[in-house]
Amino acid sequence: MNASPYDADMLVVGAGPAGVAAALMAASLNLRALVVESGPVGGKLHRVSAMENVSGNWSTGPQLAEALAADLQRLQKAGRCRVVEGHAVKASGHDDRAELALADGRVFTSASIVVATGVTELAPSDLQWVSAPADFSASPLWRATPQELTGRTYVLGADRPLGTWLRAHPDSTATLHVLCPPADRYKAAEVEDDGRVRLVPVSHAAISRPLYGDGWTVEVKGHDGIKTVYAATSVLNNLGSKPAGLAGLVSGEDGYCPPNQQHRRIRVAGDLRSARFQRIATAQGSGAEAVLGYYYETSLRTANGAAK
Ligand SMILES: Cc1cc2nc3c(=O)[nH]c(=O)nc-3n(C[C@H](O)[C@H](O)[C@H](O)COP(=O)(O)OP(=O)(O)OC[C@H]3O[C@@H](n4cnc5c(N)ncnc54)[C@H](O)[C@@H]3O)c2cc1C
Repeated sequence: MNASPYDADMLVVGAGPAGVAAALMAASLNLRALVVESGPVGGKLHRVSAMENVSGNWSTGPQLAEALAADLQRLQKAGRCRVVEGHAVKASGHDDRAELALADGRVFTSASIVVATGVTELAPSDLQWVSAPADFSASPLWRATPQELTGRTYVLGADRPLGTWLRAHPDSTATLHVLCPPADRYKAAEVEDDGRVRLVPVSHAAISRPLYGDGWTVEVKGHDGIKTVYAATSVLNNLGSKPAGLAGLVSGEDGYCPPNQQHRRIRVAGDLRSARFQRIATAQGSGAEAVLGYYYETSLRTANGAAK
């Protein structure tokens, strides 16, 4: 019989690469993990159409996502992990436990929580450098097929899915006019040698409907203050992302959740940690490390006679 007062030793929120790595590491240490996930296992992997920086010879994100789902199934079958569907809303650390509250009212307790909820897409209304009418909704670049890119395509922002899209469609000859604010400059460096990319440095971009015809009017203000107006057939969203944290986490000024500033029972892994380390391999490493950190800290505390 299990004498533990908790629902699990380790609660893991999110089953993207970081969360699954955390669950696997927990199982390998004989910790009972409970994974809470609101969508399909794999998280953003389902959007990665071409992958070349993850070991294991994976060429697309969905392939890896499928393998991660199989990993969790294997652990569940062996009784070493439980996966529940649900949307977590709050993580809290207490002296004797950690608690995770779900939107449907369920509350789970554990010795520690790994939060690996990643990021969500930014919309124009989240940013000051772009303005657009209320009815404007740009579909994401990562979902666009080359066949859809007829006419003059403008891309809002130079976030990294731009590089992924170019690698996924090496034969596409579409030209992407990428509106690049100063904050995206370091990301644009990855793609500026690709002849299909026209970087348009902007301090502000205003999207509006043209007086006549279809498409969009894009009024760009350059760094020199000079305004230029372009006619766009389509405008795609590549603005980047914002952290998808939970209530109860400590956030920095940029909204991200630095791991070293959380309650000792709460660990943060994956994209949620910082805007700069958003990669599959680092997500996996940080998920595994979050669990190991807890494990060794607890062993030491127990060895020193303190409560888990
Ligand atoms: C278009 C695109 C292309 C990319 N290309 C590459 C690439 O080529 N190479 C590379 O290394 N990286 C790439 N990335 C980045 C990579 O996908 C991420 O760094 C990685 O997926 C982050 O893993 P994660 O586990 O932190 O978060 P995610 O993969 O975002 O997983 C988070 C999980 O948490 C779940 N979740 C969120 N909130 C809650 C909640 N409240 N309750 C329950 N569950 C929740 C989500 O449903 C999701 O499954 C790309 C990203 C995108 C969007």
